Amino acid sequence: MEMSKGIGRRTFFAAGVGLLAAPVILRQTAAMAANGDDRKMDATTQPQLNQFKLGSFKFTVVKDGGTVGEKPNETFGTNQPPETVQALLAKNFLPTDKFVNTYAPFVVDTGSDVILVDTGFGEAGRPKGTGQLAAGLKAAGYSLDDITVVALTHLHGDHIGGLMEGGKPAFAKARYVAGKTEYDFWTDKAREGTPAEGGHKAVLANVAPLAEKMTFIGEGDTVASGITAMLAPGHTPGHMIFNIESDGKRLVATGDTANHYILSLENPTWEVRFDMDKAQAAATRKKVFDMIATDKVPFLGYHMPFPAVGYAEVYESGYRFVPKTYQFDL
Ligand SMILES: [Zn+2]
Repeated sequence: MEMSKGIGRRTFFAAGVGLLAAPVILRQTAAMAANGDDRKMDATTQPQLNQFKLGSFKFTVVKDGGTVGEKPNETFGTNQPPETVQALLAKNFLPTDKFVNTYAPFVVDTGSDVILVDTGFGEAGRPKGTGQLAAGLKAAGYSLDDITVVALTHLHGDHIGGLMEGGKPAFAKARYVAGKTEYDFWTDKAREGTPAEGGHKAVLANVAPLAEKMTFIGEGDTVASGITAMLAPGHTPGHMIFNIESDGKRLVATGDTANHYILSLENPTWEVRFDMDKAQAAATRKKVFDMIATDKVPFLGYHMPFPAVGYAEVYESGYRFVPKTYQFDL
């Protein structure tokens, strides 16, 4: 009796998983066939998607790819003894010598606009297995011309690389939204001969050609109906996050406010190599995740574990990342 009950339950769950996964797999296979792509279908080369609804907005999160980094303590918690960082990783069943960074651009389909937030690495990333956004959008049933707005949290390479394709705008029908402070910083000639010179050149190549179609915004400004921007500086001088609301439901797209789901959330004051102003980034991290934890709203963090959506619960002197599961499916 117990046994047959167990088998019945297993069969039910197996069937459920099959039904949920099938449309995505079919779409991916169709996209592969259309591209003449005969690569082995695995997680490293095929676009991964996650779709959910928030109010009447439909979200599609695309995994642009993942990269492996060495010595996590030299990126996250650089003001801490290495053993302290390594102990927290080990406690959370994570390796202490390597880490994986993933990239999660996403689309919000509001019914009147199709808004893409950040663009991944684009063509420059493809030899290394990133730059999967365009393939992912196609697999989700969007053509690149369907995108009506491209909004940028900030202008680092992993967020702007997908803007241009073969020297032309990848999203030919879109208008663009970027932070004024951010754009002015990276396009300023004063960046030449500084550590920001590489970023300066990348912005001149990938973002500046689109400036005529770009709206430059600041704190509280509207990106599109239902989406407003909040300044969240520190990671970069004009880094922005987006507050997204539909039918009384809300999600905050936090961009690169926190970039390791354990190290940076549990210890918001630990310094991060990629944060340009480390003290300001730490203060912003506390402020933003205080708001998210207090308001009990979901957030989408560009470098959180795919599909990059979850909640922040107050935990010790920081926050615990609680990944979304089926909350949005009911
Ligand atoms: Zn980033």
